[in-house]
This record gives sequence, structure tokens and C-alpha cells, in this order.
Amino acid sequence: MTFRIARIDWRALSNAKDPRMVATTAPYPRTFVPADLKVQTFADVEPLYRELIDRPIDSPAALERWLANFSELSSVVDQVGTRRYIDKSCHTDDAAIQALYMQFVEEIEPRIKPLYFQLQKKFVQSPHREQLTDPRYAMLERQWRPDVELFREENIPLQTELTKLANEYDTISAAMTVNFRGEELTLQQLGRFFEEPDRATREEAYRLMVARRLRDKDAIESVFDRMLPIRDEIAHNAGQQDFRAFMWKAMKRFDYTPDDCARFADAIAETVVPLVNELDRQRKADLKLDKLRPWDTQVDPKNRPPLRPYKQDETDLLVDRAKAVFERMSPELANDLESLRRNKNLDLASRKGKQPGGYQATLEERREPFIFMNAVGLQRDVETLLHEGGHAFHTIAAKDEPLQFLRSAPIEFCEVASMSMEALGAEHMDVFYPDATEAARAKRTYFEKVIALLPWIATIDQYQHWIYTHSGHTRQQRGDEWLRLRTRFGPSREHFDFSGFEDYQRHEWHRQLHLFQIPFYYVEYGIAQLGALQLWMKARENPRQALANYRAALTLGGKRPLPELFSAAGIRFDFSAKTLGPLMRAVGEELDRLPR
Ligand SMILES: [Zn+2]
Repeated sequence: MTFRIARIDWRALSNAKDPRMVATTAPYPRTFVPADLKVQTFADVEPLYRELIDRPIDSPAALERWLANFSELSSVVDQVGTRRYIDKSCHTDDAAIQALYMQFVEEIEPRIKPLYFQLQKKFVQSPHREQLTDPRYAMLERQWRPDVELFREENIPLQTELTKLANEYDTISAAMTVNFRGEELTLQQLGRFFEEPDRATREEAYRLMVARRLRDKDAIESVFDRMLPIRDEIAHNAGQQDFRAFMWKAMKRFDYTPDDCARFADAIAETVVPLVNELDRQRKADLKLDKLRPWDTQVDPKNRPPLRPYKQDETDLLVDRAKAVFERMSPELANDLESLRRNKNLDLASRKGKQPGGYQATLEERREPFIFMNAVGLQRDVETLLHEGGHAFHTIAAKDEPLQFLRSAPIEFCEVASMSMEALGAEHMDVFYPDATEAARAKRTYFEKVIALLPWIATIDQYQHWIYTHSGHTRQQRGDEWLRLRTRFGPSREHFDFSGFEDYQRHEWHRQLHLFQIPFYYVEYGIAQLGALQLWMKARENPRQALANYRAALTLGGKRPLPELFSAAGIRFDFSAKTLGPLMRAVGEELDRLPR
């Protein structure tokens, strides 16, 4: 299961290497940062940060100007970091480009961080802040206040320690390769054999994967054991009861509580798990098996070859067709996608040297989106482009807000922007597949994935709630808790036989990198999916209105609290059974209508 990042959150540096950036005039002229400043080192920007820190502010108007200057500097620096990240993703085999990126991450960004914090504090504590009556400023204060309140000098080395441990996890995971039929493969590469129609091949690949993962189970448990006390300590240093309370504030979860997440999980157990069981029952029948084994979940139940929405080398055709899908929703969206192509902000085709995955990144100074992905001619690419397209529309819609800090929405809503495009786009798969059976199959694949993901989200989320409210637990206890949650949300024993994999099941959470790298970040995907599905239902009743609401909500960027962004999109910020129930009924009916 891979996830795509919505936005790259680096703050800082330059792009002399990129001819596009030098040749074109900036659409938003600089008024504070010198027009000819090329950010190459920390020293290039340090005086600008210092000037902002030291500048006396004697009126509300001066505070507003100061904030605009800060935003401009931050956008310039952010774009440099983003550009270097994009370059690195496109050329992982170019040492000079890698070095530029690492220089940003190691030498520029960490030195800007404390200065950035001082500026946030200066704004939040300014005596003139209260006199700025535009509600945008109250939103900004709400967003920055937790950063100021949680900041502790003594937590900086602890954070670094955690980053190193996360790297250790990465290194262990990246080194996991297997020899499959004479070929050295990464576990990702091995993954394609799980779709293989020949059952013995799938089993062989699966057993190999499990054996390889189990070899490092103790090493990964040990990384996690070392992380937990550091996370507790960070929370206590910041005056928080536990790491969950700390993260709740740090992630700016103002509009929902741990109890809401528990209720969401209950609603998933009640309304989604039965639907997943029914799909498993159908799969078992289609494959003519008494019980499914863990290697039977990804193969096409009718043994059909993979869908081919376009030929591998024709990424222009992928864009043309995605554009046609958006055109059916709204001509503005189609124009937005075309603007990415025109501005050369697409790098879609897979090729040697590109990093895996896909993302949308925002070039903050130009206020333009960039989409990166690895298209190889599969249905997955169509979904990725629709998804990242949604993030790009968000960036474009919100670009008129002068303050960078208010242009991007909370992540829960960013993913509504992207996931909605996947949901609404699923209705137009005939653009890619003239054959109606294939179009229906593409749509079906999408909805099945949506349903299957929700119980996994509940599992990962509830597991983390347990972990961080049971300080001092043993490995045995956390393994038991994981198995308890898997029994509640996971596949039913009525249809599945997992015998022989008991040890692997106990350690299955090791593969979810979020637990190691971005703790607590996961429920967002579920909250956003509910938003996307609500929008999909609205669009079936009144597509024009649904799309108008969608765009209006995107335009608000981060200027409104989460519940208001949802209501601007014409949907409810609610993740109880009251909202989830009807959505799952509608999805279930849709699946019943679609041929298998
Ligand atoms: Zn996304």
C-alpha cells in the first residue's frame, strides 16, 4: 500500500540549475527578497531572516507588511527545496543533484528551522496581532500557536535521534531483497507476482516475502523499542500528558478528538467489515476455492490480463485522456491540467533513475503545482494522475491568497481534493476503455480498493492510540494488541486460512512505515475518503452543483477550519456511522450493479 504525499513541506533554497526557473519571469514579483537573489547556501538567506526577527513593529499595518515579507521569503526558500527534491526524484543516479538536495536538507533547512520558529513566535506574541481583525489572521494564529507552545530547545536533539532511528528502519527495509527464480528482487518488485494467475507462483513469492521480512523482525522491534521512550520524553518535556496528546496538538487536530477516532473505528467495524467479507466470499467463489490463502488476494478472480488504459510509452495520451475525464466534470479542471503540461510541470513516464511512487509538489514562489509519477501503462497510473490532479487543482484554486501559510489546507481536506477526483473520475472510465466491460472492471477495482483500505486505516489508527497510551508495554503485549485489532478489522477466518503464518501476522505492522516515520498520521486518509465519497454521491444527484462546491472549497485554501471547508464543499465533517452507513450502502449497491 503506497501513499502519495500531498505537498512537500521543506522550507528553503535556489535553482540556478534549472533553465526554466531562470528564463521565465516570476508571476509574483518579489518585493522583499532581492529579485536577483539566488539561494545557494544558508548564508544567502540568513540576513533576511535576521532582519525580520529584529525589525521593530510599531503598528498593525507594519505587522501585516512584515508578515507579507515573511511569506515571500518562505515561499522563495520553500520553492528552492521543492525544486531540489523534484530534481532528486527525477535523477536518483546523478550524484551532483543528490548532493544539492542533501545540502538543502542537512545544511539549510535545519538552520532555518529555529529562525522560522522565532518568526512564528513574534507573530503570535505581537501586541498588534489582536488589532488585525481579518479572520485570516485568527486562523494563522490558531495554526501557529501550538508550534510556539510545544517548542522546547531540549527536544531538538531528541527529534534528531528519532530521525536517525527512522533512517535505521528505512535502511533495514531497503535492504530487504530476495532471490526469486535466479533474480535479485526488492519486495516491491516481488509484489507483481502476487497478481500472477498461476497459484503456485504466487504462493512461492508470498512465502519468500514472509521469510525475508521475518528475518529482520527483531531488528525492527528494537528500533521501535528505542523510539518509544524518546517520544514519551518529547511529550513530557513539552508539558503534555503523553505522546498522543503531544501529537494531537502538533498535528493541529483542532476539530476532532481521540474519541471521534474510536467511534470512526466502530463505524468501520459495523458498516465496512461486512462489505469486505462479502467481497472475499465472492472472490473465493470466483476462484473456486474452499478457503482463500494470503496469496490469493491480488490476482484477478477471472484470471484476466491486467487492464491497459494506454500504451506504456504514450504518457501524452494518458494526459489527454485524463483531461477528457476532467472536461466531463468541468472545463476549468481540464484547463488547469493543461496548464501543468504547458508550464512543463509534469514528469510522468517511468524511466531508469527515477525514484518510485508519485506526488504533487507545490512550487511556492510561482504558486504552481508539479506532478511526479512513474507511469507504466497500468490502471493504477490513471488513478494516480486523477489523484495528483486533484492536489494540483487545489494549489491552483488557492493561489490568490497572498500568504503562503494560508494557501494550503489541513491535510484531511487536501486529500478530499485528490480522492474526490479518483471517485468522480471512476464514473468516466469509458474514456480510457471503449469496451464497456473493461470500463466497468476499472471502476469496480477502484471501489473495491476504497472499501478494503478503510479497515486497515482503523487498525493502524487504533493501534497507535493503544501504543501511546500504554507506556512501558512489552513486545508480547503489543503483538497481542495488534492481533486483537486484526481479528476485529481484518479478513474473516470464514473465508481465509492463515495457518502457518502466525508469527508473520503478529509482526505485520512492521511494513507500515507511518508507525516509524510519521506517527499518528493515518486516520486522515479515512476522514478524507468519507469526504470524497460524499462528494461522489452528491455528484450523482447534481454534478454541476457538486463540482461548483468542490472548486469553491478548494479556493479557500487554509483560511477556514476543517468543518467549514467540508461544508463549503457541500459535505459533512462527520465520521460516525450516521455518515459512513449510507455511503457504504451506496458503494455496495454500485458494486452489485457492476459485473465481476
Ligand atoms: Zn494525496
